[in-house]
Amino acid sequence: MKFVHKTTDIHMEVDVLAENRHLADHNQERLRSMGIRSVDVMGSIGSGKTAMIIALSKILAEGGVKVAVIAGDVTGQDDYDRFKEAGIIAYNVNTGKECHLDSALIDRALGRMHLDGVGFLFIENVGNLVCPADFPLGTDHRMVVISVTEGDDMVRKHPLIFQDSDIAVLNKVDLAGYMEVDVSRVKRDYAALRPDRALLLTSVRTGEGLDQVVEAIRK
Ligand code: MG
Ligand code: ZN
Repeated sequence: MKFVHKTTDIHMEVDVLAENRHLADHNQERLRSMGIRSVDVMGSIGSGKTAMIIALSKILAEGGVKVAVIAGDVTGQDDYDRFKEAGIIAYNVNTGKECHLDSALIDRALGRMHLDGVGFLFIENVGNLVCPADFPLGTDHRMVVISVTEGDDMVRKHPLIFQDSDIAVLNKVDLAGYMEVDVSRVKRDYAALRPDRALLLTSVRTGEGLDQVVEAIRK
């Protein structure tokens, strides 16, 4: 009986992931047909995802690009409020109990948003470094943001999400000295996983490295 139960679980999981990928393709087609570039911003709680999206949006807006954000959180609308306060078109998505966004939630959000003239969409995923990796949303880029305040072992502990993302950012590098974090060690860990990419170093507070991130997400 145990074996049968386990097999059913595995089949269910395969179906859920396949269905998610199907809807992700649908989201991608929809965004491309509207001329909207997009990035799924994943990363740990407190790594600075919201502040980074606001800072990147400012740079894009200065370049004449209209930006929208989907704010994904388990509950509440704190990030959504911050985006609205910053003058960004925003849509709030609560996942309830789920610790990640999925492409059905994004499909629904896109159907309800007013995206006329929008050139760039940020999707702020739920803060964790585990399951968002398994649920692509149909964006052009997948970006993972960590910060030095989490220590220097994040890449080693969560290799999958770094392998599945095409952009990786180490934020709050201005605090590396205080946190006694060896930035070069994080860079080495990342280079071992993605020798074709460079870990981007940023500080949203000082503005360091943000232009490089803008360059990466606009590619
Ligand atoms: Mg946030
Ligand atoms: Zn999850």
